[in-house]
Amino acid sequence: MARRGTNLDRVGGFNDAVVLDAIRRSEQLSRVELAEATGLSGQAISNIARRLLDAGLVREAGRLRGAGLGKPRTLLELEPTGQYAVGVHLDPSVVTVVLLDLTGEVVARRPVDQVADEPGVLIDGIAKTIEDAISEAGAARDRVTGVGIAAPGPIDVERGMVVDPPNLSAWHRVPLRDELQRRTGLPVVLDKDVTAAASAEKWAGQGGSFVFFYLGTGVGAGLVIGDEVVRGSSSNVGEIGHVIVDPDGPVCYCGRRGCVGESSQPRYLVQQAVQAGVLAQGIDLDDRQAVDTAFSRLCRLAADGSGVPRDLIATLAGRIAKVVEDIANLLDLDRVVFGGPHWEQLAPVLGDAVRAALDGRFLLRSVHPFEVTGTALGADVGAIGAGSLVLDQTFSPNPSLALVGER
Ligand SMILES: [Zn+2]
Repeated sequence: MARRGTNLDRVGGFNDAVVLDAIRRSEQLSRVELAEATGLSGQAISNIARRLLDAGLVREAGRLRGAGLGKPRTLLELEPTGQYAVGVHLDPSVVTVVLLDLTGEVVARRPVDQVADEPGVLIDGIAKTIEDAISEAGAARDRVTGVGIAAPGPIDVERGMVVDPPNLSAWHRVPLRDELQRRTGLPVVLDKDVTAAASAEKWAGQGGSFVFFYLGTGVGAGLVIGDEVVRGSSSNVGEIGHVIVDPDGPVCYCGRRGCVGESSQPRYLVQQAVQAGVLAQGIDLDDRQAVDTAFSRLCRLAADGSGVPRDLIATLAGRIAKVVEDIANLLDLDRVVFGGPHWEQLAPVLGDAVRAALDGRFLLRSVHPFEVTGTALGADVGAIGAGSLVLDQTFSPNPSLALVGER
């Protein structure tokens, strides 16, 4: 749904963003169509279009000849090189940097060489990788408008701090936002990984009301309700990892048993498979690499056959489905989108099993369907989402400016 503009000239920045967003949503629009979509006058559209063309944010994209005898209409579209945004995903196992152009396309992607968990060293590495990505894409440095960081929760958004990320033992209240800003000279925004992932999904055209169910070192939920990303009172929305789904399950670091986060970890699934005799004994469960390899094998066995490997993942699916069901019913959502580092391997079995578990159980099914999908953005969804947080600012009219204009 296109936003409406306001015909008062005091709110130029607001209307520019409204017009830019309308062009983004439709890919190509003429000035006449823009006026219809935004409610702005023809003169206002003409002025804004001139400004956006001069700023290099839009370009003319050929002419549209109507059925009548009127003048052909010139179409406007986004100029991809007009602006760039950096996205950084701080995942405990791999830190990824992407560069997005103004249309949200990934134009460069690089993993950060993770030589140490020591915050200063890792932040240096991130800053260097950002510069490398900008060079690789051939992007003009002065067109890069900012850096978005997607980090595991909890985060302190006000101070730009990562509080206690899992598996990065040296990280405690690290002022990541300011440190990265100092090293790059770019504005930096910090948000939770699950919120960034939900934002990426929204950007990719998946609006509406949905939960992004993130399967990684932790389990979390990002929320989009009515096309808007929901952050909560401290931007720490979505901490669902400690919902208990199996009272006899594995002991979680929170001290209780069977939390959905702990029950979904490759380490626990591999342990169960070893106990059931479908994976060989002797895997060191504290060796991340060995667990990853065993987990891949378990997922392949589950996808290829029936038997114990499939049952293990189907059981997990039933537990995850219960959590999804409760969130969906509570918030009247229309779908769940799965993603995160562990999703791709679990997908062949987990997706169908969650769908089957929810079928006939979802309370609101008589009113509307509930869809179960996986992210189309792959393993980089967190990094892409971080970049989209920066682009969001270009396309989102600042509501406080609009209020000033309407007074
Ligand atoms: Zn727990």
